[in-house]
Amino acid sequence: MKRALAGLILSVILLPVVGPAQKRTFPELKQLSGPQSPRLGFIIHGGAGVLAKAVMTPEKEKAYRADLERAVLAGYKALQDGKTSLDAVEIAIKILEDSPLFNAGKGAVFTNEGKNELDASIMDGKTLGAGSVAGLRHIKNPISLARTVMEKSEHVMMIGEGAEKFAKTQKIEFVDEKYFWTQHRWDALQNVLKEEKDKEKGKPGHMSTAGRESQNRFGTVGAVALDKEGNLAAGTSTGGMTNKRFGRVGDAPIIGAGTYANNNSCAVSATGWGEYFIRLGVARDVCSLMEYRQMPIQKAADTVIKEKLQKAGGDGGVIAMDKFGFIGISFNSEGMYRAYIGSDGKPVVEIY
Ligand code: ASP
Repeated sequence: MKRALAGLILSVILLPVVGPAQKRTFPELKQLSGPQSPRLGFIIHGGAGVLAKAVMTPEKEKAYRADLERAVLAGYKALQDGKTSLDAVEIAIKILEDSPLFNAGKGAVFTNEGKNELDASIMDGKTLGAGSVAGLRHIKNPISLARTVMEKSEHVMMIGEGAEKFAKTQKIEFVDEKYFWTQHRWDALQNVLKEEKDKEKGKPGHMSTAGRESQNRFGTVGAVALDKEGNLAAGTSTGGMTNKRFGRVGDAPIIGAGTYANNNSCAVSATGWGEYFIRLGVARDVCSLMEYRQMPIQKAADTVIKEKLQKAGGDGGVIAMDKFGFIGISFNSEGMYRAYIGSDGKPVVEIY
């Protein structure tokens, strides 16, 4: 009798912990589920390879903030004007590609051979249409070519010369490769090459300011959006990682790794050490946790970045948005350039 009573008391104590946890529902996901009135939502990132706090000057910070704000406002305005989430993603990413500050388009990092090779992808959450390009050398805005691959070809992914040949048949802007050259990225490559040489010779090596900057070897830009029709989209564009070799392609153009969008779950754009993001299928994984485990978006993003990626030894971050406009931002790097529209309709720009 005593034992039965003890069992009853124990199960009552445990019930709130064990019982409901198995059938958890998340009221915040339901709250805004009226299909007639979806919220607009927009987030961008400018890469997880931020300048270390130690080398960030007030002038540089101002410049980064200004470009991020310009891009987030332009994308958001497009959504307010009734343009699609795909339009907003493309508009904002083009602004960041054209800025020399970010590692995408102008300002892309250099390969080991001193070239710029650009990757990008875009995905439509409504149709699951996707377009992706890699190893581009002469395309001013890789995100626009990715979108053209999605909309004007039968394929999802095109690379190198073939992708550029296709671009010639479309209205895509070409530039000379010199267009992508920037002093700070060139210096970063020289520093990484010198660090490599010193390591080979077993020299401890003193790290210069540029060397410390070049520790952050990635950058990448991306955007996720929810439009008036309730459709999600995601896009990502990058120069990859400084000193990359032999036609290396990172996660940015890999659907499911660097970019993913599905109206049933979420839209994600990633930045970070691409090899890890490919192995873990990061972008799809965030959406899968939402789709199959009903996790709220921030928890899904944190689970993948702060637990899985961290445990695997990778670093970087994601921006994510669910079909109700809830946002998730997570990174395990020192910072991630990012901007979104706050609940008061004003842009919020953050770095660390
Ligand atoms: N993820 C990109 C890549 O590995 C780099 C980045 O995010 O900056 O190519």
